[in-house]
Amino acid sequence: MEKKNLDWANLGFGYVQTEKRYVTNYKNGAWDEGVITEDANVVLNECAGVFQYAQTCFEGLKAYTTEDGRIVTFRPDLNEQRMKDSCTRLVMPTLPDGRFVEAVKAVVKANAEYVPPFGSGATLYLRPYMFGTNPVIGVKPANEYQFRIFTTPVGPYFKGGAKPLTLCISDYDRAAPHGTGHIKAGLNYAMSLHAITEAHKNGFDENMYLDSATRTKVEETGGANFLFVTKDNKIVTPKSDTILPSITRRSLMVVAKEYLGLEVEEREVYKDELKDFAECGLCGTAAVISPVGKIVDHGKEICLPSGMGEMGPTTKKLYETLTGIQMGRIEAPEGWVVEIEL
Ligand SMILES: *Cc1c(COP(=O)(O)O)cnc(C)c1O
Repeated sequence: MEKKNLDWANLGFGYVQTEKRYVTNYKNGAWDEGVITEDANVVLNECAGVFQYAQTCFEGLKAYTTEDGRIVTFRPDLNEQRMKDSCTRLVMPTLPDGRFVEAVKAVVKANAEYVPPFGSGATLYLRPYMFGTNPVIGVKPANEYQFRIFTTPVGPYFKGGAKPLTLCISDYDRAAPHGTGHIKAGLNYAMSLHAITEAHKNGFDENMYLDSATRTKVEETGGANFLFVTKDNKIVTPKSDTILPSITRRSLMVVAKEYLGLEVEEREVYKDELKDFAECGLCGTAAVISPVGKIVDHGKEICLPSGMGEMGPTTKKLYETLTGIQMGRIEAPEGWVVEIEL
């Protein structure tokens, strides 16, 4: 298979249209069998449920080329389960068991020429999503839906090294108790756009959101979970029902424990503890783990001892071990790396 002639190392994180995508429709209580199509456009009625009441959720995962030339994806079964949870909370139909992973395999296979070569640092990003398609004007769930997966090649996240980020503690809330913070709904992102635009305007890279009930505990950023390293080298991640359960973060916790022999803890993390941590990272599919150098709480600076120059040593080990597993350099736990048969 001939790869596309793209400047892989200089791709950004943007939409590059490829020829093929996966589409399946839900109507009269059932999903059709699904197809790979070349039509990149979605044409819907003006009153479609997704436009009126934002009934939509999504996922994000990547396909990689391993050193020995295989194409693999990372734990797509967890994306399948999480999408099911999102759909259930938004009163959307779930796909039949296994269909999500089948669709992932089909769409990666159809776009194999766009899976960046090993060593380029680039990957093929997959965006599965579902939305209500039939006209809905009274407030109720749609009864027809479309599920799609498109792919887009994305460049190496850290070009010229990972520069630690500066965060600010946000005065806005991301999620309410008993709300939708734990599912991957577009609506969570729509309402975070104002807060992130403001943070950028003020010179910050990301917002650190606190729990909205007490504003004393650390939650996450708009699109990534936190991992902290204590001064005695323990890994701590916030526990909360209103955090989106990041697959990257959950995987890094296993890597910390099983591969690096570190103690790991999922517990409530108080804002007042931030000054005591040695390192801090943001976890998500896009970057795996981005180092945080500084957190600003209304003018008061909390500087992580790892500094603003580079990733802290434990963050770096976590990053290298997990990316090694994803790229096939390090043996993966059973079921983590799923090969695409071409
Ligand atoms: C998608 C997402 C993450 C990261 O999850 P991964 O499965 O690691 O990509 C973290 N927080 C939020 C709010 C998200 O939407």
